[in-house]
Amino acid sequence: MNQATAATNLKQETPVNRLHNFCAGPASLPTEVLLKAQAEMLDWEGKGVSIMEMSHRSSDYVKVAQEAEQSLRRLMQIPDNYKVLFLQGGATLQFSAIPLNLLGDQDGKGKADYLTTGAWSGKAIKEAKRYAQLGLGEVNEVASSKDSNFTTVPEQSEWQLTEGAEYFHYCANETIHGVQIFQPPQVDAPLVADMSSCILSEPIDVSKFGLIYAGAQKNIGPAGLVIVIIREDLIGKASEWCPALLDYANQANKDSMLNTPATYSWYLAGLVFEWLEQQGGLEAIAKINRQKAELLYKTIDDSEFYINKVDPQYRSIMNVPFTLKDSSLDAQFLAEAEQAGLLNLKGHRDVGGMRASIYNAVSLESVQALCDFMIEFANKQA
Ligand SMILES: *Cc1c(COP(=O)(O)O)cnc(C)c1O
Repeated sequence: MNQATAATNLKQETPVNRLHNFCAGPASLPTEVLLKAQAEMLDWEGKGVSIMEMSHRSSDYVKVAQEAEQSLRRLMQIPDNYKVLFLQGGATLQFSAIPLNLLGDQDGKGKADYLTTGAWSGKAIKEAKRYAQLGLGEVNEVASSKDSNFTTVPEQSEWQLTEGAEYFHYCANETIHGVQIFQPPQVDAPLVADMSSCILSEPIDVSKFGLIYAGAQKNIGPAGLVIVIIREDLIGKASEWCPALLDYANQANKDSMLNTPATYSWYLAGLVFEWLEQQGGLEAIAKINRQKAELLYKTIDDSEFYINKVDPQYRSIMNVPFTLKDSSLDAQFLAEAEQAGLLNLKGHRDVGGMRASIYNAVSLESVQALCDFMIEFANKQA
């Protein structure tokens, strides 16, 4: 039996012990992708070695890397004047790379605007301010929704925008607080968006952005990789302090292979992109994502038992935090959920309660199973 047949046969059987995984990250991956990786693990395309054991400079690996990029370009319809970089250090290292690159060539006079809507955008501005304090430039918080405990997004009319800012940074989906900004803000400065937990969940117009970045371990693939999509005119502005490895110009010139990239994560990301194309692309996956989110929010809203406090227009379709009216039942809820095969529902410590992350690889069936469990659990306590 060849590998392809083995993979298909396995797919037809119910895969052993694949439970419903609502982990916020590293998150669920499509079973089909894991089966393909498994089938190719020992002997990649008859080469007698695993893809992990190949030089990143070999023509075979370079082809895999380029195909992954092309697939991502097709999925997101990335215009030709954007570079796509496959880097390391996670989204968190981009919190440093962004100011070091985009404020860099202004002799300390550059300005950047940041919108704070939750934990992740909060970390991004905190890191940028470190460089501002060292004289790299000026970093301004245009508004924060801290007063609402990050359950909404400040009205744009209240934002204190800086004239001539080099960029405007925001987090498109706050993974911990479950707050999503669906429309790109309309500001003059180039938009820089942390899309770690919402990239590929629905179509977006890339041309509205200066830079999009996303750690891989939510909707792209395994940890160890961060993808940066950057408009070409923003490349080549790095500060002289910027480490060579973080300079977008260096990475763009070397096709993200200035040093050894995260080869296995990049390969697996390629398999996930291929899977997404087979599902019908972002329009198709967005439709399922909307269904999943609607079902879960409806279950919460229809009950007297569960609460989600996020302003309905900003409710995330990827991360759904909720609390039980009676938090003394939290531990029992989690234990019984786990017995029912529903894993990783404990909320982030900053927010408490529960959180269901329902990324692309989490099926409608898994969300249905969660909703059924929630209703049954609530009824039992009544
Ligand atoms: C997970 C996450 C991060 C951090 O990603 P790392 O890869 O762990 O650095 C940053 N921003 C958002 C929105 C995230 O969801």
